[in-house]
Amino acid sequence: MSRDPRYDILFEPVQIGPVTAKNRFYQVPHCNGGGYRDPSAVAEMRRVKSEGGWGVIFTEQVELHHSSEISPFIELHLWDDDDMPMLAKMSEAMHEYDALAGIELAYSGVNGPNLYSKEVPRAPSAMPIRTFTNDPVSARAMTRKDIRDLRRWHRNAFKRAKNAGYDLVCLYGAHGFGIIQHFLSTATNHRTDEYGGSLENRSRLMRELIEEGKDAIGDTCGITLRLSLDEAIGELGFSNNEVRDLIDMHSELPDLWDLAHGAWEDCSGPSRFKEEAAQQDLVSGIKSLTSKPVVGVGRFTSPDVMVKQVKSGTLDFIGCARPSIADPFLPKKIDEGRIEDIRECIGCNICISGDMTMSISRCTQNPTFMEEWRKGWHPEKMQAKGESESVLVVGAGPAGLEAARALGLRGYQVVLADAGTQLGGRVARERHLPGLSAWGRVADYREYQLSQMENVDIYLDNRLSADNILEFGFQHVVLATGSTWRNDGVARVHVVPMPTDGSIPVYTPDDIMNGLKPGGDVILFDDDHYYMGGVIAEKLVEQGARVTLVTPAAYVSEWTNNTLEQAAIHRRLVELGVDIILNQSVVQIAEQRVESECVFSGQRTNYRAGAVIMVTSRVGNDALWNELLARENEWKEHGIDSIKLIGDAQSPAPIAWATYAGHRYARELDMPDIGDDLPFRREVAELKS
Ligand code: ADP
Ligand code: SF4
Repeated sequence: MSRDPRYDILFEPVQIGPVTAKNRFYQVPHCNGGGYRDPSAVAEMRRVKSEGGWGVIFTEQVELHHSSEISPFIELHLWDDDDMPMLAKMSEAMHEYDALAGIELAYSGVNGPNLYSKEVPRAPSAMPIRTFTNDPVSARAMTRKDIRDLRRWHRNAFKRAKNAGYDLVCLYGAHGFGIIQHFLSTATNHRTDEYGGSLENRSRLMRELIEEGKDAIGDTCGITLRLSLDEAIGELGFSNNEVRDLIDMHSELPDLWDLAHGAWEDCSGPSRFKEEAAQQDLVSGIKSLTSKPVVGVGRFTSPDVMVKQVKSGTLDFIGCARPSIADPFLPKKIDEGRIEDIRECIGCNICISGDMTMSISRCTQNPTFMEEWRKGWHPEKMQAKGESESVLVVGAGPAGLEAARALGLRGYQVVLADAGTQLGGRVARERHLPGLSAWGRVADYREYQLSQMENVDIYLDNRLSADNILEFGFQHVVLATGSTWRNDGVARVHVVPMPTDGSIPVYTPDDIMNGLKPGGDVILFDDDHYYMGGVIAEKLVEQGARVTLVTPAAYVSEWTNNTLEQAAIHRRLVELGVDIILNQSVVQIAEQRVESECVFSGQRTNYRAGAVIMVTSRVGNDALWNELLARENEWKEHGIDSIKLIGDAQSPAPIAWATYAGHRYARELDMPDIGDDLPFRREVAELKS
């Protein structure tokens, strides 16, 4: 297949200072939870993007000096020459298929608590450090000497970046994370010298750094600037109007304007709260202020939307972080006319949770993300099948669908059976909940891929029993039979069922997804802490109930702090009139009353309610597995070599865990048993004397 001429414009080369990008696909800097701890894993992840056709590929945030660092978060360092080899490995990987290699340099200023380096943080003005974790640390105001030092450190970093093979050096002044923004914003810059006050003064450091960068490495490297379109923190913040004034004032200064938005949670809004191209109004018209190229983001996955951004004169480059994670081959697929093959980002922000939890990122749609080096997994290619021929996949939720897709790619004869009448399992249901429609892409992508495979047959409306499975006699059987929400309150607060006298009906998210509509006063007890409690509350209000959400956590949907949506969820629930009761657990239901208890004081409160919804935990649907396990001695006579349980059925978790489990199953089938060996590669720190 060849490219649709409509998309030709996306493949035009664009110049950035002294270098030229081969096309308009620009992977903006993004975290991955690996950083300096897993440099080869990060390098390989970026190499795969190079193979996937991106014109520009950036590193994540790279701390340019040890006096400003954001531990415990794991990004990259360029503190001295020791960091060069890992950065050079990355640029080399980015170059492999002719992408421009970009490095994002950050001096974190008021955002860097320096928990590791123990240096006193420096910022334009003295104030408490501004981080996710409200660290009890303050920054001191920078003196003129400090500013001179900072400029020298930048010059050193520019030279190191060039020597490490980078073509583009981006100065980070967005998301509240970079010192350039701290100088630009009157919220963080209260100086009265030539670096404070007027916009010209507040932009002095930015100008000096860019000019000095150009002097140092501008002959071969483009110097780009990353700003937020609006700091989005009210009157004192660096507003969209001021951003426009700044670009007007310094229109030709950087070689490219890279326009992010607000804080990270504004920029990486989940699909639950933000549409594709959500920053349209904030960015439109900026291009007319400068002759330099402009890149913007907006979870772009649709080539038509991308073309519109370019044709309307809004953007020169299509900036992508999450869409490039979900599908590293997005540009190549557009180029080859394979639009249906694009694995669209669902906007769930699970990838971000890897960074927030300092572990390593996962992607719901792309289970190979950050496993390219650790496990040698490629997002588009599977190894050929092993010696066996046939596999039965039971359950077509995320785990079963991904297992079937990946097994199909390997060349096995696959049968995928599901008790329901449509593919998707939990996502077929959850996609109808408020704000979650994009999550349906988990099923849609796989449904199309499976429809193209002659070696995969799908049987819907087929609830299989142990007898059925034994009779069929597939060589391998994988059970991905999902999970069910409990209605007895068991989770973290209650490790055994909660006392109830049955005087008030108790329901679960499954009941609500099945169409149940409790009216009147409803108590929702959330001891699950991810998105489901908030979403079900929203659904209940939509259906006309008055909802009180009770949770033992200090935040509604507490874990969504890791997916950057907690504040938006709280705001939405307040707007809907949901009563939010924090730090309380529902402890019993008796005599038509729901009783809660303060997690700190033990003080009890009673509520009247017509129904209680337990959003507490799920149990794996493993009855079929247990039945088959009990009949293990019959497997051989039916020609069955293995039966395995995966996904939510084995251990309920977010969807990304299920697609990973399905993929892993397919990768490991017929592979040699590695025994007690570590199932992934890792890097171990080199010891110094
Ligand atoms: P996961 O997230 O692990 O993929 P899901 O709950 O999304 O789990 O999907 C499980 C799927 O398994 C559902 O679509 C369900 O209809 C199907 N299923 C469960 N038990 C059986 C069975 N005995 N036979 C066929 N399909 C089943
Ligand atoms: Fe998109 Fe979710 Fe994957 Fe992140 S984890 S890239 S938001 S699908």
